[in-house]
Amino acid sequence: MYIKEFFVPKRHTRRSKFGVIHQYTRKCCMLVLRCDNCGNEFHRPRGRMDPNRINNNHFHVCKNCNSKKFAQKMGVTRKHIWDMPASSDLDISRL
Ligand SMILES: [Zn+2]
Repeated sequence: MYIKEFFVPKRHTRRSKFGVIHQYTRKCCMLVLRCDNCGNEFHRPRGRMDPNRINNNHFHVCKNCNSKKFAQKMGVTRKHIWDMPASSDLDISRL
C-alpha cells in the first residue's frame, strides 16, 4: 500500500578537471509503502520503482516477504473479498 513520499538529501563527491574534489547535494525521493503481506512500513527509492505501480491499485511487498508466494495467495483471497459482508470489522486499508 502506498502511503506517502519524502525527500532525503544525498551527498555526492565529484572530481573536477583540475583534480579538486567537490561535494554536491541531490534530493532523493523515497516512497513510504506498507507491505500488503506482513503489514510493516518500508522505504524504497522512487527511481527504482515502475512509475505505473506508485498507487494503491497495485500490491507492494517488502524485501523480507516472498512476492511470488504473496501473488499466488492473493488470487484466492481477492475472490473472498467480494463475498464479504459490509459489516465485517476488517481494516479497510488492508483490503
Ligand atoms: Zn512484508
